[in-house]
Amino acid sequence: MYNNTMIQLGNERSDIRELFEYGNARKKLVGSENVFDFSLGNPGVPAPLCVREETERLVREMPAVALHGYSSAPGLFEVREAVANYIRHAFGAEMKPDLVYMTCGASASLTIALNAILNKGDEVVVVAPFFPEYRVFVERAGGMLVVAPSDEKFHLDMQKLATCIGKNTKAVLLNSPNNPSGAVYAEEEIKALSALLEKKSAEKGEPILLLADEPYRELTYGAKVPYVMNFYEHSLVLYSFSKSLSLAGERIGYIAVSPKCAGAETLFSAVCGAGRALGYVCAPVLFQRVVATCLGKSSDVGEYKKNRDILYNALKEYGYECIPPEGAFYLFVKALEPEAKKFCERAKKHELLLVPSDSFGVTGYVRISYCVERSVIERSLPAFKALIEEYRK
Ligand code: PLP
Repeated sequence: MYNNTMIQLGNERSDIRELFEYGNARKKLVGSENVFDFSLGNPGVPAPLCVREETERLVREMPAVALHGYSSAPGLFEVREAVANYIRHAFGAEMKPDLVYMTCGASASLTIALNAILNKGDEVVVVAPFFPEYRVFVERAGGMLVVAPSDEKFHLDMQKLATCIGKNTKAVLLNSPNNPSGAVYAEEEIKALSALLEKKSAEKGEPILLLADEPYRELTYGAKVPYVMNFYEHSLVLYSFSKSLSLAGERIGYIAVSPKCAGAETLFSAVCGAGRALGYVCAPVLFQRVVATCLGKSSDVGEYKKNRDILYNALKEYGYECIPPEGAFYLFVKALEPEAKKFCERAKKHELLLVPSDSFGVTGYVRISYCVERSVIERSLPAFKALIEEYRK
């Protein structure tokens, strides 16, 4: 009677959401201080001061309708102009406001872009491990997800990518800094990928697009995040302020289409059409205005770095295997038995809520979101120690 796929999607919560709900129930039962919930990537460091100051100023000085009324469908022109200016100055890439579309966060940036470009049967190549919602977003846009494995350090493996990109590939969707591995793809990798895409596009007779999903761009621990538009012409940047400015609940981000993309204006029309078809028009206006003055700023990355260091150093000392994250706020740790789900069940007995890696397209790992309060990390360490000792027995 109703749409079966949607019923299924609604009933089958993602592993991450499932664990989060379990955590909430468990906290009620045993007390929140006794549960170590590392499930969600909900930024725990407060938004930078500029967000509060600008929000307060706008609320004080602007008429209500300019804050809470509609904007034009792709966003306020002055905000799109500020984003375009920022892209030009910060990254030296060409950009104009007419190719910027304000969205309700990265999820909307992704679904709009995918619906704008995909025809039935088109393939989108992603690199594992990847954000699990990619599968839902690609398939609901009529496409097919093709998963390219990464190398042993979770960086790009050009040979594997080359075998995954073919005549049906419409786009490669890249996420760096990466959720869940924390990898930041280096300039040499982006250059090599661009060369590969140029070759594959020539073989296909049509440009293959590069979609860069960048909600963690500013959250790095020294690594530089190359701006894809400077390396590959047919690029779109899918941005969100959810993580960089700790504004996940405000639902604000943007899509920037490179002017060098083949048929950039037509592609932007398709973006507007997909935004319309999905009902993603006129992103929250108050926060369009706020982010326009906070471009390039971020929450205190130093706080995430401290969390990363405490957790990474302790886990290595206890004997866990993991690679130090270069960015984002996740630690990707090898499970202590082949099946990550079984390992997570045992971790739950120690009140450790870890996400199994299967839905990220990789087996045998768990993701730990360390964007939580420092005290949660500190209090959780004996539990991690007890868990590995239990496996050693
Ligand atoms: N893309 C990646 C890689 C993510 O990690 C997330 C959220 O965790 C999203 C997209 C969705 O972000 P948003 O909350 O801005 O929709």
